Amino acid sequence: MMTLSETLELVRPNIMRLKPYSSARNEFTGGNAILLDANENPYNLWNDDLIVNRYPDPLQREAKLKIAEIKGVSPEQIFLGNGSDEAVDLIIRCFCEPSTDSIVIFSPTYGMYSVCAEVNNVQVKEFILNNDFSINLQQFFNGISPSTKVVFICSPNNPTGNAQPIETIEQILSKFRGIVVVDEAYIDFCPEKTYLSLLNRYPNLVVLQTFSKAWAMAGARIGIAFANPKIIATLNKVKFPYNIGVPSLSVLSRAIEQYSNTKSLISQIVSERELLRLRLQQLSCVKMVYPSDSNFLLVKTTDANSVYNYLLNNGIVVRNRTHEPLCNNCLRITVGKPYENSKLIQILNTYRP
Ligand code: PMP
Repeated sequence: MMTLSETLELVRPNIMRLKPYSSARNEFTGGNAILLDANENPYNLWNDDLIVNRYPDPLQREAKLKIAEIKGVSPEQIFLGNGSDEAVDLIIRCFCEPSTDSIVIFSPTYGMYSVCAEVNNVQVKEFILNNDFSINLQQFFNGISPSTKVVFICSPNNPTGNAQPIETIEQILSKFRGIVVVDEAYIDFCPEKTYLSLLNRYPNLVVLQTFSKAWAMAGARIGIAFANPKIIATLNKVKFPYNIGVPSLSVLSRAIEQYSNTKSLISQIVSERELLRLRLQQLSCVKMVYPSDSNFLLVKTTDANSVYNYLLNNGIVVRNRTHEPLCNNCLRITVGKPYENSKLIQILNTYRP
């Protein structure tokens, strides 16, 4: 198990030394001042309800207070990014030395971990999940090296839909001497499987969540990283100063007020998912539907390319994952509105190989 100071030693020395960009607004928290510091236009022209002529709060303090309350963490344990993709990129840039260090991914998984690593010239060590989509711990511990700085675990995993058990996460957290990122983008569909409660025990844990999925805010681009305050401070140092815009923060504030409504909508999507599973399983072009903790189903078909094109020609877009490891002939299908799911089943019923 790593201590906090050992964890902080993983930060790249240039990032440790970095003196971040600081605006006068960083230090200013009071109201009603005459703001002549940031070369803004003093007139709010474009929106009556939102102040968009001014830069947003660089640290999104109001939003973090509300998120902290909902999630049961402290505001200092929260980083907000322009989507959780921003956090993925920042974690790699803060901890991995280009052309020297590596990250670990467990395939098949979300594609941006390796894209961000490659952009930063950081090597990707790819391990394939077991056939039941669990992590092969022995293979992992045998395959890493001292230059492996970050491991990305997607739970529930995209595209396989399953969450990893807590024992796996804790084994990695306690034995791996690097940063463990648990990407919980789909956690609101199985809130009992969050690993946020491990934050206070493991300084090397970063949990990612997002407002893009269950919260119905993909267009607003807001993602969260939860971690030790020292790690959060490091990510904040490196991010662009004003990474989340005023309109997005305003939508977030409304969404948080309406949280109980969103929760009941999430339950509906989960019930709809199980209904969709039953209906898919009855189709002749479907060989099996995998279990899911998320808002999509991984579906093994008789011929993924053919079914995919058939759906596309009928105006239905799903994700063809047939070229991903362990996903031969698999399509990933997002749970839509009830009439959309019915239309999908209706079209698939008329599919002939
Ligand atoms: N993680 C996972 C597992 C995802 O599937 C996605 C989006 N498809 C993201 C992160 C990125 O989400 P965002 O940047 O919208 O927060």
